[in-house]
Order: sequence, then structure tokens, then C-alpha cells
Amino acid sequence: MSSAKMPSAAQAADSPSSYTGSCLCGGVSFVLTAPLRPLVACHCLQCQKTSGHYVVATSVLDSNIRFTSETTLTWYRSTDNHDDDSASLTHCDRGFCRVCGGNLFWKPHPSDRMSVFAGAIDAPTHLSVVKHIYTESQADYVEIPAHLPQFPRDSSS
Ligand SMILES: [Zn+2]
Ligand SMILES: [Zn+2]
Repeated sequence: MSSAKMPSAAQAADSPSSYTGSCLCGGVSFVLTAPLRPLVACHCLQCQKTSGHYVVATSVLDSNIRFTSETTLTWYRSTDNHDDDSASLTHCDRGFCRVCGGNLFWKPHPSDRMSVFAGAIDAPTHLSVVKHIYTESQADYVEIPAHLPQFPRDSSS
């Protein structure tokens, strides 16, 4: 039997109402207001090539992120949307720190949400990965835990 504890109401109540995060050098820092979407791991080629691995991200409403420093924040406009998203999205921006290279945000347009990469959020996050997407391009060294749902592309496909 697994010794893992089931999430309890008490733990949920302990989850913070806000989270802080930053890039490595601190040139970009932010505060996120709950609720944060559970984490999704994305194995698409864009995530792999821009991060050096697969990306794990939460997502928040635009109104639930407040920058406390954005002096080094740089946006790269990408035209290579996920194919499944391209019908509804015009483009996506990737946010990174131009000093330390921290890979931080993915912002689809038009949308009122922004993805925030989990490693930028200060511990403890109280978050967990709920699914892996775009596993059709998953790297051959990656092992995905068997209990997590996997989707070859977007989870709606
Ligand atoms: Zn930085
Ligand atoms: Zn991706």
C-alpha cells in the first residue's frame, strides 16, 4: 500500500493565498494570487528547446499576477503555437530574464491567462503535477510516473 497521504481539507486550508517567485538573479519577481491551476507537464518541442527539458507550469488569471520587479523581463513573440491551439490563438509570448536566462512565462493571445513555470515559484508551492501533455515528442530519457494521465498532444485531443 502506498503511504502517500490523501489531500485533506486541512491541507487545502493551509495552502497560501499568495505565492512569490522570481528568476535566478531576481531581475524578475512576482506575486501570484490563488487559485493556481494544478501543474501540467508539457513535452512539446518548443518547451524542450526553450527550457532544455520539459516544462512544468501552473496558470493564473492575468489579474492574479503582479510584478514586483520586471527590469530584466523580456518577451519573445512566438509564432509556433501548439497546433491544436492555433485555431483560437493568434500568437504566444515567452517571458524570460535577459540577464540570467530564467525561463519564466508562456502567454497565449488572446487569453486572460498566463502560464508560470513552476521552478520560478518559491517553495513550498503546495502544487502537484496532474498530467503530461505532448508526450508524442517526449524525450527518450524521460520516465513519466505511471499513475499520471498522458496525452500525445493537447489534453483535449
Ligand atoms: Zn534573472
Ligand atoms: Zn509545450
